[in-house]
Amino acid sequence: MVNYYNEALDIILDIENDDEDKLDKNELPIVEMSADVLYGLIHARYILTRAGLQQMAEKYENSEFGTCPRYNCNFTPVLPYGRSDQPDRDVVRLFCPNCLDIYNCASSKYSLVDSAYFGTTFAHLFFDTFPEFLPQNKISLYVPKMFGFKISEYSKTGSRMLWLRQQPEGFNRQGLITLSENESTVENAESNNATVELDNKQEQGHDI
Ligand SMILES: [Zn+2]
Repeated sequence: MVNYYNEALDIILDIENDDEDKLDKNELPIVEMSADVLYGLIHARYILTRAGLQQMAEKYENSEFGTCPRYNCNFTPVLPYGRSDQPDRDVVRLFCPNCLDIYNCASSKYSLVDSAYFGTTFAHLFFDTFPEFLPQNKISLYVPKMFGFKISEYSKTGSRMLWLRQQPEGFNRQGLITLSENESTVENAESNNATVELDNKQEQGHDI
């Protein structure tokens, strides 16, 4: 995965080595590039360790990685996430534990950070290790409406795959099912008696 592994490791560890003198002038930039990749892969491995997770927890607590751009996530802090464990496949993305979706980084400086430097496991292992960081608020879903009627998901302008963000009834973020909990996880911020009445009509087959 990393070319010139030994030479790259020497650069990271700042070890003077006679072998470096034997390197061709053209090889040096390649070795330096390999050192970058190796350092990133070591980073990806480190953040999976207890010490690494703890350090990342301190950063997450301070929202150092930013917050979810989705309005209904109410500034939930996000974590860096890599869609690939192989270098040179993608750049780092951001994972939101509230909407369970990933986003592009707002700052262009992260467009050069390889996704493998964080990897596919870290974000999920993090919340498995620190469930106290999982958002406690109910998931709020956007429900598109026209003239007060919910738009059918089969409509061209309806919500697609809304169920992806839904949780089973009575499910809480710690993964426990509370049988006494019978509140719907779909929260409509604008719901009132009038819209409930209209929604009932929609359920009776009056979709737009
Ligand atoms: Zn979100």
